[in-house]
Formats: sequence, structure tokens, C-alpha cells
Amino acid sequence: MLVPSAPLLKRARAGKYAVPAFNVNNLEILKAVMTAATALKSPVIIQTSEGAIEYAGMPYLVAMARVAAEASIPVVLHVDHGKDLTILKAAIGAGYTSVMFDGSKLPYAQNVTITKQVVKWAHAKGVSVEAELGVLAGIEDFVSATDREASLTDPVQASEFIRATGCDALAVAIGTAHGAYKFKGMPHLDIPRLKEIATRVKTPLVLHGASGVLEDVVKLAEHYGAELMDARGVLDKDIASAIKYGIAKVNIDTDLRLAFTAGVREAVADFPSVIDPRKILAPAMTLMTEVAKRKIRLLKSGNKR
Ligand SMILES: [Zn+2]
Repeated sequence: MLVPSAPLLKRARAGKYAVPAFNVNNLEILKAVMTAATALKSPVIIQTSEGAIEYAGMPYLVAMARVAAEASIPVVLHVDHGKDLTILKAAIGAGYTSVMFDGSKLPYAQNVTITKQVVKWAHAKGVSVEAELGVLAGIEDFVSATDREASLTDPVQASEFIRATGCDALAVAIGTAHGAYKFKGMPHLDIPRLKEIATRVKTPLVLHGASGVLEDVVKLAEHYGAELMDARGVLDKDIASAIKYGIAKVNIDTDLRLAFTAGVREAVADFPSVIDPRKILAPAMTLMTEVAKRKIRLLKSGNKR
């Protein structure tokens, strides 16, 4: 059975580990993630962006997640970065057990009002809500360092926001960015800021844009012709300290994309005459399973079901 995210994340924050949230948009990614999570007995969040919902169709995603949830571990089905209220309402009605409303680009007051509304709809159906305060973005999105500083989550405002909205989890902006291709230089996690947020906010915190960009996977993809430019990510030790200071959910998307890409490229290059989709996708699934296992070990969520 699919379960809401709130109790899992509370337990994770108290136990100083984080629940992995994998972005899924097809059967192969889902099966790879479930193989890894089941093997390591880790609770798992299956999350779909609005783009994934458009790509696969909500009924397909819900049906696949329900089958996945027959596993002997807690499974959550979550909307990642929901902005369209029609989609959020539909997801709450369709069987999703957790949703994110992303009002981070809205003025503060509007973010509060809409998040509160989503919380009302969601909680009426036992669905958990993640909200976002502060803007997650690429370094080049900001003209100056002061600009960038201003986009990060303010600890005092974070505690006010949670009191005002009643959300179950909060995505914080502490210096990470989405995607693997945006960084010029290493992303720098603002741990002192996170510490300050964690002191004021007892709600589980969420880390987005924290891809590790695993070097061996990048090398494999590049070996088979992928052009990944300056792919760099967040260091494992930074993720470990983030978990010490309240991060209870870590989103993983880019690392799975890289594994998928490397696996497909390898299959097509090594076996150019193969036309069976299952054979083309098999190495991708193996690699994604391996990457998901590494993430679970990093987040220390194994044996925490
Ligand atoms: Zn995100």
C-alpha cells in the first residue's frame, strides 16, 4: 500500500538519515529503483514531476506505483515541483500520497496562501505536503553574489512559513542547483545556514539539486559519446552533514538520468544489430539499480522500513 510521506520523514529526521526520493517517468526507472530499495530494505519515495505526468500519464504512473507498493518496504507516490493546482488536485484525488507545491518563485505572501490551500486539500485526504521557500537555481542565474545570497532560504522566515502553512516538509535553498550541467565549479552547500534553519524548524527538511554526479557513471557515458561538459555535483560528505542538520528527504534525478544514458549508449554501441528494446534497456536498468543502491547507502536509509 502506498503511504504518506510525513510519518516517514519525521522518523528519518529523528533518526538522522534521509529517505531517497527518485524521479521516475517510466517502467524501467521504477523497476530499477524498487530493486535497489527492496534489496536494501529502505523506505522509498517515487516522485513524478509535472513533466513526467504529462509524458507517462497520471493513471499509468499511479497504477505502476501501486504495483511497486506491494513490496515489503514503505513506498510513497509524490508529485515533485507541483505548480499547476489542477494537476495537484487531480493527483490528490488519483491516489498520490504526497505532493509538493512549489511557490518558491512567487511573492512570499502568495506562496503562503496557496501552500495553505494545498495543505487543506491534501490533509483532508491523508496526503502529505512539501513546500518550498527560497529559490533553487543555477549559479549563472544570478548576476551577483548578493543576488544569490538573497535567493537562499531565510531561517526566520522558514519558521514563520511553516507555522502559517502547516506543511509537512520544507525544501530549502542552501546553495544547490538542479541538473548536472550548470555548475561552473563545485556547488557550495551553506551548512551554517542549514544549521540555523534546523534550530528554528523541527519539520523535516528536503534537499533538491543534490546530485553527486558519480564520476564512473559520467566517464562511462562519455566513453560512449555523451557530451556532459562540466558535470560536477555535491560531495558525499556535504550530503552527510546536511543529514545531520535536518535534511530528511533527498531528491535524486540527474544521477539516474546519467546512468540511464550511459547504459543505453553502451548497449547500442556494443550491440549495433540488437533491435530488442529489452536488450537495449537492460544495461541501463542494471546501472540505475547500482546508482540507486549507492544513494541509499549514502543516505543511510537501508534497514529503516
Ligand atoms: Zn527540485
